[in-house]
Amino acid sequence: LRPQSSPYLEGLNDEQRRAVEATDGPVLVLAGAGTGKTRVLTTRIAHLIATAKARPFDILSVTFTNKAAREMKHRIGGLIGPAGEGMPWLGTFHSIGTKILRRHAELVGLRSDFTILGMDDQLRLMKQVIVDQNIDEKRWPARALASAIDGWKNRGLLPEQVPPGEAQAFAFGKGGALYTAYQARLLTLNAADFGDLLLLCLKLWRENPDVLETYQQRFRYILVDEYQDTNVAQYLWLRLLAQGHRNVACVGDDDQSIYGWRGAEVDNILRFEHDFPGATVVRLERNYRSTGHILAAASGLIAKNEGRLGKTLRTEDVAGEKVTVAGAWDSEEEARQIGEAIESLQHRQHPLSEIAVLVRISAQMREIEDRFVQLGLPYRVIGGPRFYERAEIRDALAYLRVTMNPSDDLAFERIFNTPKRGLGDATLQILHGYSRSQGVPLLQAARLLTETDELKPRARSGVRALVESFSRWARLVGTKPHSEVAQTILEESGYTEMWQKDKSADAAGRLENLKEFVRSMEEFPDLAAFLEHVSLVMEASEQEGADRVSLMTLHAAKGLEFDTVFLPGWEDGLFPNQRALDESGRAGLEEERRLAHVGLTRARKRAKLSFAVNRRIHGLWSSTIPSRFIDELPPASVEVVEAPAHFSAGASRFDRNPTPFGSSYGTPGWQRAQAATANTGNFGGGNFGSGPSRNPVNRSGPRQIEGELIAKSTGTPSA
Ligand code: ATP
Ligand code: MG
Repeated sequence: LRPQSSPYLEGLNDEQRRAVEATDGPVLVLAGAGTGKTRVLTTRIAHLIATAKARPFDILSVTFTNKAAREMKHRIGGLIGPAGEGMPWLGTFHSIGTKILRRHAELVGLRSDFTILGMDDQLRLMKQVIVDQNIDEKRWPARALASAIDGWKNRGLLPEQVPPGEAQAFAFGKGGALYTAYQARLLTLNAADFGDLLLLCLKLWRENPDVLETYQQRFRYILVDEYQDTNVAQYLWLRLLAQGHRNVACVGDDDQSIYGWRGAEVDNILRFEHDFPGATVVRLERNYRSTGHILAAASGLIAKNEGRLGKTLRTEDVAGEKVTVAGAWDSEEEARQIGEAIESLQHRQHPLSEIAVLVRISAQMREIEDRFVQLGLPYRVIGGPRFYERAEIRDALAYLRVTMNPSDDLAFERIFNTPKRGLGDATLQILHGYSRSQGVPLLQAARLLTETDELKPRARSGVRALVESFSRWARLVGTKPHSEVAQTILEESGYTEMWQKDKSADAAGRLENLKEFVRSMEEFPDLAAFLEHVSLVMEASEQEGADRVSLMTLHAAKGLEFDTVFLPGWEDGLFPNQRALDESGRAGLEEERRLAHVGLTRARKRAKLSFAVNRRIHGLWSSTIPSRFIDELPPASVEVVEAPAHFSAGASRFDRNPTPFGSSYGTPGWQRAQAATANTGNFGGGNFGSGPSRNPVNRSGPRQIEGELIAKSTGTPSA
């Protein structure tokens, strides 16, 4: 018997409803794009709360981005009203991990106000560690170490857990020592990097089973979106938490796994069925998002992949418009075409907020942005911490960070002599030495040094002024609105003035950014909350409701949908990218194809592909050929709308030898077949590669995860 009275359940299909109502026990929803996986999760939360199975704070819900978390909160509110407000444990793995870690920081050697390091601070620190270990930094650059350590952290491995062979393989056998030293440095700085946010939770729980148990009890229900892109550390983290009530629901789509390069493992889908035997597995097959041709194109493309779990996808929507392909002479013309197409949609009352441009790499954005600016088309860039990555913003943040956390040495170093206050490297060296010998942070070392005569008078007075300023600013915090405090700090430090005096072309823009920075702070209750937000933010903050075109990378577009989606840069070497093409195996190319599939399936009504036959890469022009992915699309669902300018129109719309540079490409298959009728019915069935023989992922169950120690030592069952 179903509770017919719940309005939030209305409109769900039977399978969706089953996934919502199977509240207790493990549930895995494995289904294609646009089938309502996210909608199922949202409704499930509403259902749990509405039926009083759980209170908002009993539910742990993991989304892939902060934006998705906001969206989900909003939706839950829409389904059940104020009862769904709160949801303190709805967020990304990182934000939830941070929250847990702050509460128990001292148990892993940190203080609760620890700083979260961004990429460049992380690299700076690694560099120091490498130099300290007397390793040739040219042979073993910080970046290589960073990626090795990130890789280990993604797999849930603490320094002592790294397989000896792997640690040996790095920096003349010193990989393990470097990792250990780096972690030790982080602790003295009272800092954590992104990987630590989960890794240290695992350590915390392994060493303190009582703490783990409180969280296992607290989270009566656990939900995870975009499950296919979890890494091993995230999986271990989830598995530990879920051992309490075992009410864990994960939704995902192996065909949308696009973060393998960052350690995500599709194998986690198989691990789930293995670790949670008897899980209810739900498959959703109806796509509610896209029209027939778009779904046919996306399905036809992804069918070229071999490593698939296999699933069926159908739509009951109309066939709609075909996927269009436009060629341009160069990337500038491509941007112009996109601009024109958007303007024409705009004239037809198409809201801009329903238009997205999805690029393969962020460097493609500049030309498109330039075009939008010229046309006066309002747009926003989603994804990537671009704004907060700007130098002036990072400087401003460093001032705030030191004010809030006097042991934040990296931040202190960053602004020590910015603006110039006559404090050179020599002074910094003395500070470093003193900080080490006294075992105190740099700022405190600076304070102590001003009472000695180790510094030259000029340096001493400069250092004293800085130290005194920080004490003054720290006292200001809490006494007046934090944006005013920030404003004061930027003025009194001379930082704003530095840019006012700067005569370079971009100084005005930087001042504008600083203003925007102070303004954005007002949205937060206090400085700590703001800094926390900045550390975690993966996308630029946006004003809701404004009618603007969205511009983002394909990776950032996961889970989103738009009426019209532009997909520029479909050229071999760019998309699929060169690295995938150079690789010997298929894995890289298949991940690129999944990315193309994600791009196409973002579109509800219109998908518009394009390529340019000339593109500037690293400042140099080169001729390109259209992406092999274009050729792989089912011809019946594709229409060529524009050939590159200057081309002689022959029998085929594109010349075989189109560029003056002599590059060539074959007549694309999609031009030849025109007669086939569009299949707007079932795209799945037999040709979806679901047989075990075509399924290399599903060989013999998931491979063993390193770091099993964690599960064992807390007495939970492990694989
Ligand atoms: P993705 O894999 O891209 O994340 P998804 O499986 O999470 O997709 P949703 O975003 O939840 O899919 O849903 C896709 C669209 O279909 C949304 O606009 C959603 O509101 C709509 N939708 C889902 N289920 C139904 C339904 N039963 N009736 C009507 N519309 C639905
Ligand atoms: Mg989704």
